[in-house]
Amino acid sequence: MPSPSTIGVVTPGSTYDLVCIGFGASALSLAIALKERQSLASTVFLEQQPQARWKPCHSLISPRMKTSFLSDLVTSENPRSKFTFVSYLHSTNQLVTYTNSGRIAPSRPMFADYLRWCAKQFESHVCFGNRVVGVMPRNGNNGLLEGWNVLYEDISTGQRGSITSRQVVCAAGLQQKIPNVLSAQSIRPRVAHSSEALEAISEVLKDKRQTPKIAIVGETSHAAEIFVHLHGIHGNHNVHWLTQRSEVKGKEETPFALESLHQSHQVPPEFSRQGGERSRSANALPRQLMTEIYDFMYDQSVKQPDSSKCRFQVRHSTSITNCQVTPDNKVELGFQSGATLNLGSKSDIYDLVISATGYDTSEHRRILSPLSQLVDGHNITVAADYQVNFRSGVKKSNTGVWLLHSPIDSDEIDDALYQILAQRSARVAQALIEQRKLPAEETTSEDRSARL
Ligand SMILES: Cc1cc2nc3c(=O)[nH]c(=O)nc-3n(C[C@H](O)[C@H](O)[C@H](O)COP(=O)(O)OP(=O)(O)OC[C@H]3O[C@@H](n4cnc5c(N)ncnc54)[C@H](O)[C@@H]3O)c2cc1C
Repeated sequence: MPSPSTIGVVTPGSTYDLVCIGFGASALSLAIALKERQSLASTVFLEQQPQARWKPCHSLISPRMKTSFLSDLVTSENPRSKFTFVSYLHSTNQLVTYTNSGRIAPSRPMFADYLRWCAKQFESHVCFGNRVVGVMPRNGNNGLLEGWNVLYEDISTGQRGSITSRQVVCAAGLQQKIPNVLSAQSIRPRVAHSSEALEAISEVLKDKRQTPKIAIVGETSHAAEIFVHLHGIHGNHNVHWLTQRSEVKGKEETPFALESLHQSHQVPPEFSRQGGERSRSANALPRQLMTEIYDFMYDQSVKQPDSSKCRFQVRHSTSITNCQVTPDNKVELGFQSGATLNLGSKSDIYDLVISATGYDTSEHRRILSPLSQLVDGHNITVAADYQVNFRSGVKKSNTGVWLLHSPIDSDEIDDALYQILAQRSARVAQALIEQRKLPAEETTSEDRSARL
C-alpha cells in the first residue's frame, strides 16, 4: 500500500485493494459508501480530466436537475450521512435560502457545487489527469487470476504506467457521441457536442456585429432544447435544425408533431425511415418542448411565409455527407436533403455546428476488452451486485471487477440515475467488502449466486 504522501499522485507499480476508473458521480457515491463503512483506505480513483478542469455535473441547456434534491449521493441509504445535499446546504450556509425557494430540483450549478464539496473530502484518493487504457488479468502461481494490472496514461506527458489491485471498479460513465463526419480534429473547434453547447453558443454570439449561423444536428430532446434556447436569446443569429429523420416524434400528439408528420409526407420514401424506427419512443420529445417550438415557428411563418428565409428552420430528412473548414474558419456542411423534394447534394456554411447526437458507453468496452477471453459468450455481463460474471474457475475468489454504467446505450440519456445511485453504491460497497473477507481459492458460480 502506498504511503499517504504518494496518494493523489499515482506511482507506477503501486498495489491497492481497489482501483476505481473515473471519478464522476457514480465513483463519488461509491467513495462515500466505502468511507461510511471504514473501507476506503487502500483505494485510488484514476480520473482522466485534469483537476482544474474537472466537471462533476453534465451541463445542459435546461438549468435544473431532472431529479429531487433527495436523490443525491447518499440520502436514500443514509439520511444522517454528512455527505447529503441537505448537509452541504447547511455547511455552506444556504439551507434557509434553498428551503425558501420551494424548489425540489436543485439548479445544475448548485448540484455541481455539491458534488465538488463532497469530492474535496476525497481528494487524497484521486489521481487526476490519468486516463485508464486497459485492465489486464494478472496470473497467480496456480494458474488462477489473482488480480489486475490497470494500465494508465498521464494525459499531459503521454507516459504510460501500470498499478495493480485485487479489485477494480469501472465507472467511466458516458461519452459524447459525435458522428464520424463531424469528428475530424480540423473541424472540432467549430463543432460542439450538446454538453458543451452553452459555452460554444456564448462564444459564437460574442461578436454583436456578425450574423452567426448555427446548425443543430440530431433528433434528441437536447437538440430541441438547444433550438428553443437559441430562439429565446437576444441576437440576429440564424439557426438550422437538421434532422436525419423525416419527422420529430413527440411523447404526445402536439401541433408540432402533426406539422412535422405532414412535412414528412412530402418527402420521397427513400428519405423517410421505416415504420419500426419511426415508432421508437426513445427520442420522443416532451409535450412542453414541442408546443413551444410549434408556437414560435407558427408566429414566424405568419410574418415570413417563405420558410427558406426564416431565421429558424427545421430541416427534416437531411443527411450530412461531408464537412470541411472554409478559408475564413467556418464550417461547410454538405448534405443530401429530401425535404425540398429537390434531391441532390447541397451545402451551407455555419459558424457553429452543435452535435446533439447523444451519448454512448463505449469506453468501458474498450477498457475491459482484455477481459473478454475470461467470460462466457461475447459480451461482458454483470450480476446483481454489478460484479462482472467471469467464467467459473478462472480467478481467485477474493478478486473481481465491477462495472457501473448506464443500462442504456442509446441517443437519449438516463436522466434519473441519481434516484438509484445511493442504493447501487451501497450494494457495490457491501459486495467489495464481503469479497475481501473471502479466502483466496477459486469461486464457483453456485457460490456467487448463493451470496447474492
Ligand atoms: C447531460 C446529462 C444530464 C443528466 N442529468 C441528470 C439529472 O438531472 N438527474 C439524474 O438523476 N441523472 C442525470 N444524468 C444521468 C447521470 O446522473 C449522470 O450521467 C451522472 O453524471 C453519471 O455519473 P457517472 O459517474 O456514472 O458518469 P460520469 O459523470 O460520465 O463520470 C465518469 C467519469 O469517468 C471519467 N473517465 C471516463 N473514461 C475514463 C478513463 N478511461 N480513465 C479515467 N477516467 C475516465 C470521466 O472523465 C468522468 O469524470 C444526466 C446525464 C447527462 C449526460
